[in-house]
Amino acid sequence: MQIAKVIVDVPTMQTDRPFDYLIPEALEDTIQPGMRVWVGFGKGSRKLMGMVIGLADHAEFDGELKPILAILDAAPVLDPELLKLSKWLADTTFAFWITCVQTMLPAQLKAAADKWVHPLTPAGHALIPSAQALDDLPEAALAPVLKAVQHGDLEVKYRLHDRAKVKTVAHIVPDKTEAEYAEIKQTLNGNAKQQAHLLDLLTQWHHQNLTPAIPDVKNEIPRAQITAAVKKGWLHLVEQEVYRDPYPQMQGQALTKPLALTVDQQQVVDQVTQAVDDHDPQTFLLEGVTGSGKTEVYLQIIAQALQQGQTALMLVPEIALTPQMVKRVRGRFGERVAVLHSGLSSGEKFDEWRRIERHEAQVVVGARSAVFAPLTNIGVFIIDEEHESSYKQADAPRYHARDVVLHRAQTMHAPVVLGSATPSLESRARAEKGVYTKLVLPKRINQQPMPPVHLIDMRQAYQAGGRDGFSKPLLDALQQRLDRHEQSVLLLNKRGFSSFVMCRECGYKVQCPNCDISLTLHMDSHSLKCHYCGHEEPIPTTCPNCGSKKIRYYGTGTEKVAASLNQLLPQARVLRMDVDTTRKKGSHARLLKQFGNHEADILLGTQMIAKGLDFPDVTLVGVINADTALGLPDFRAGERTFQLLTQVSGRAGRADKPGEVFIQTFNPEHYAIQYATKQDYEGFFYAEMAIRHRGDYPPYFFTMKLTVSHPDEAQAAKAIYSLAAQLNAVLSDSARVLGPTPGAIARLKKRYYYQMVIKYKREPQLNAALAKILDETQASVKNGFQVAIDPEPQSFM
Ligand code: ADP
Ligand code: ZN
Ligand code: ZN
Repeated sequence: MQIAKVIVDVPTMQTDRPFDYLIPEALEDTIQPGMRVWVGFGKGSRKLMGMVIGLADHAEFDGELKPILAILDAAPVLDPELLKLSKWLADTTFAFWITCVQTMLPAQLKAAADKWVHPLTPAGHALIPSAQALDDLPEAALAPVLKAVQHGDLEVKYRLHDRAKVKTVAHIVPDKTEAEYAEIKQTLNGNAKQQAHLLDLLTQWHHQNLTPAIPDVKNEIPRAQITAAVKKGWLHLVEQEVYRDPYPQMQGQALTKPLALTVDQQQVVDQVTQAVDDHDPQTFLLEGVTGSGKTEVYLQIIAQALQQGQTALMLVPEIALTPQMVKRVRGRFGERVAVLHSGLSSGEKFDEWRRIERHEAQVVVGARSAVFAPLTNIGVFIIDEEHESSYKQADAPRYHARDVVLHRAQTMHAPVVLGSATPSLESRARAEKGVYTKLVLPKRINQQPMPPVHLIDMRQAYQAGGRDGFSKPLLDALQQRLDRHEQSVLLLNKRGFSSFVMCRECGYKVQCPNCDISLTLHMDSHSLKCHYCGHEEPIPTTCPNCGSKKIRYYGTGTEKVAASLNQLLPQARVLRMDVDTTRKKGSHARLLKQFGNHEADILLGTQMIAKGLDFPDVTLVGVINADTALGLPDFRAGERTFQLLTQVSGRAGRADKPGEVFIQTFNPEHYAIQYATKQDYEGFFYAEMAIRHRGDYPPYFFTMKLTVSHPDEAQAAKAIYSLAAQLNAVLSDSARVLGPTPGAIARLKKRYYYQMVIKYKREPQLNAALAKILDETQASVKNGFQVAIDPEPQSFM
């Protein structure tokens, strides 16, 4: 008796474990861990997707076993390394195992596979003629045939995929010999010109052993002719899978040559490639100012891994995945590169994923979730801008991509490079302790000094001739750029900040009816929206609270700043880049291209303009509001502000023209702004470490956030106090507990939130205690409770 251990697609605490299923004899040799299967579950006739996580020769369950109904994959979609990783992920983030599995797979494989599928020839492989017979079968006849395949009665190389998920192109296969075609041609009557032409083509293709794709010949032969010819038996059609390439314009381009490295770059490359050669899983922290040539260093390290027959995984923050970055990596390694980020359609993602899985791509560059790319034999891992908060996932599984990389690197015996101009405090502190090896690129490639930064005290700006949020010096500098036909970048810091509507008579802010949150103003749809629950309502004309007409829009949205610029500098051409103008696919790239082509003088945008942009004619960077994040009750506020200002300053003066930076602030004395102005990472690091030390914050302490919610406020409060008591009983004296307190947003989607944060150094009991809490509260989930555990949260809010 063969048993498969299966985790099923029911994310609850009771079901978050492997279940035993009987393997039908016909599937015994086929089934492997990492394959998705179709199984019955529970008492009724419910059928769902499951993942085989192991095989056994006896069952632990002694009741009657249900059988595996079907295998959904011809080969495992998670290899043993990734399957193990999914369990590790579940254990370290307190997420359901099946949720972790789903997170690791492309969305196209997540959906329940309730549709039957058809056999396909993978791109670039010889066509499988037998696939065509199956393909032509009506839906009803397909199931028994597939069953026969599973029983081994029919031998077909097939892959079970939902037909809609794969893009295919029909190819023409000539079915007759040249002599036969000649014979048919004799029988045609004189005015069947098109048929004669088709016969000539078929003769030629048969002779040359060609099977052309229909789209390639559609100008020569009408589709109706082909259909008719199939009926006559002159040819048949075979579907071949084609990949949806997210960057078709780069196909077939000549590859770029490696640059001759500077002495500093060479030293870095030598140290890392030595570790690649030695399969030494050590972690390097590469501290390099913006423009110091880190990307070229990454490319040459990747080249070394490829040289050795290994693969490479490179992570970049979502917003840094600009076409510029993709162009550099794909430009160097061509179609060996797969790109994964949220700007791709799910079909494109699926195809990129499969190119990796089929070993057709050996380099992956992608955002956070690309950390699960199914590469094997990885020779080096690279995380660019390693300090970026977007590497931490906010929802379950609440993983940090850096931790996943470090874990995979240990398994693969491969080095890791963490690169940044402003490393996270955590990483830099580890380098300080010698856990990571520190590497530095202290100078810009072009030998340009870092641009001078002018700090402007906005408390005095208006007395000194400023207007509409712009100080006089910044306006003058923008005017100068216009006169010299140079370009400027303006950053509007949106963090912790949004446009809202407030009554000037009574101070009432329009709130979401479901959440403790002010509604955000959206001018494009002329409405107020809740960014948490999706509630939307029209903009009121009178105050809902006091009836006054003095209702006003507040907040410096990019729209409003663009309007001010229009007034203040009428001749300037302004491009706006924010969530509203980049929502459509490809619009981000289009805006950047326009700016690169000098179709605008000023690029005005939110955080998304701060990273990765390399425009030689940008000589001015202005930060309109440096301090919006500083007011937030967030222990990382100083770090985030410093990083953002340093990043955006690095956008000025990247080529030969020197740059200049203006930072407008209401807090000119703030240490983070002061150090950013001096571009002094060292100074900032030690100052920030002192603050973290005094407050028992990371990296001195580990942290864990526990949140409870319930539709009834008293219930939620009662639950968190009882959990706090349970945890306090197991925590040692060195642990610190913040709270319980109401959540920063105390009510969300009609639920009340309470939270507590545990800061600790070493608590061997903690994980077990938390797992137990999860187990127990699960029993009360029916009563409306939800519990979330967030290891190393980005903020305590
Ligand atoms: P970073 O990633 O550190 O911001 P980049 O890799 O973007 O820096 O390098 C900045 C600029 O210098 C880019 O235009 C890049 O092409 C160029 N560059 C990098 N290394 C070299 C080199 N060794 N020789 C010449 N140019 C280089
Ligand atoms: Zn809401
Ligand atoms: Zn009012």
